[in-house]
Amino acid sequence: VQPGDADEVAAVVRACAEAGAPIVPQGGNTGLVGGGVPRGGEVLLSLRRLTVIEELDETAGQVTVGAGLTLEALQEHLRGSNLAFAVDHAARGAATLGGMVATNAGGVHVLRYGAMREQVAGLEAVLADGAVVRRLSGVLKDNAGYELPGLIVGSEGTLAIVTRARLRLVNRLPERVVALFGVDDTAGALELFRHLRRRVGSLEAVEIFYADGLELVCEHLRISPPFDRSHPVFVLVECAAAVNPLEELAAAADVELVRDVAAADDTARRADLWRYREGHAEAINSQGVPHKLDVSVPLSALPVFERDVRERVCALAPGARTILFGHLGDGNIHVNVLGLEPEDERVDEAVLRLAAAYGGSVSAEHGIGVAKRRWLSLTRSREEVAAMVAIKRALDPNGILNPGALLP
Ligand SMILES: Cc1cc2nc3c(=O)[nH]c(=O)nc-3n(C[C@H](O)[C@H](O)[C@H](O)COP(=O)(O)OP(=O)(O)OC[C@H]3O[C@@H](n4cnc5c(N)ncnc54)[C@H](O)[C@@H]3O)c2cc1C
Repeated sequence: VQPGDADEVAAVVRACAEAGAPIVPQGGNTGLVGGGVPRGGEVLLSLRRLTVIEELDETAGQVTVGAGLTLEALQEHLRGSNLAFAVDHAARGAATLGGMVATNAGGVHVLRYGAMREQVAGLEAVLADGAVVRRLSGVLKDNAGYELPGLIVGSEGTLAIVTRARLRLVNRLPERVVALFGVDDTAGALELFRHLRRRVGSLEAVEIFYADGLELVCEHLRISPPFDRSHPVFVLVECAAAVNPLEELAAAADVELVRDVAAADDTARRADLWRYREGHAEAINSQGVPHKLDVSVPLSALPVFERDVRERVCALAPGARTILFGHLGDGNIHVNVLGLEPEDERVDEAVLRLAAAYGGSVSAEHGIGVAKRRWLSLTRSREEVAAMVAIKRALDPNGILNPGALLP
């Protein structure tokens, strides 16, 4: 069903509640853990027709949008203004803002602005009995009891169906620089990040990828590599400020561990440098169906985690290829393993256990969905899971909202 506004969504939910029919909410279906895909027998509730963009509130720096609006459509809408939306990621053309709220999407700017949770100033949502809850005034100071919007963010369609979101915007920074650095190893990448974080106030994104991933991207996109010689590890950095941050970045990055650097402050060259990083998902998918593990670990553990992941995968599946990339500044690594049977989950479990053992998370930004459900307990205690189940039972006693996703 494709309702067109909150009232129609509420009517659908009421009808489903009366019939005891389970619902799977779906936005752009770009999610990577299967939470928006029906498992069989559910009503697929698509939010894609909810594409309203209400008047831009330039004083508050906020805008209210329909859950089905794509991230790219919002970016386009804001292009001519002095405001911008802080969260950005490679699935921008199809991912909807409602889906991004539901998964608490992160992306490349979390380092500076936080994830979706930090951008949500209010929500309109339909509860499991068809009741509509609405908090869209955009008032930032409002401590009147439980924070329902905050609870719904990241609940992956299991507590409520998001129909509109009041989003906080940030000032559009006119001057941007992207730089790509070649370094020797993950410890070097981390050391470079430490330098930059201390000295560059305009850091917006700090990403990491490795020589094997870069090779795949260049092959797949048919583009030349960024440097004459290869390096084991690459760090991509974006800075944004009111004045051109190129000099500030160049001075801060003048450290011995940098083996090569390419920098750009014009739009076309910046996009060229980003392609080496953003082309990873597509290039990996072109080689087969990868096992995708989106983990985070404390930054200090990253070098040893990287080493251990490669060793562990090699021991369990000697023929498999492990491609790593991700958001270095957030300690968020996407572990992609190619060459495994789809149902063989030994490697998945080993990698997730490793991340948990280092104090990290089994899901950094993609959510738990269906795919990671059995591993939730690796990063959440029995008591925490019990509290989540109690919240779910209170808000959705008949279990009609996205059953089979997130919770055991
Ligand atoms: C190439 C690529 C790159 C990506 N990069 C990133 C990244 O950098 N960072 C990141 O965080 N994620 C990334 N993602 C995944 C990301 O989770 C999704 O892109 C996005 O957050 C989900 O939006 P969607 O509209 O596609 O949701 P869907 O896939 O349709 O749904 C995702 C989940 O949310 C629920 N849902 C959807 N809409 C609603 C709603 N209105 N109300 C209640 N529940 C709802 C669904 O039931 C499902 O559980 C990437 C995906 C791809 C394909």
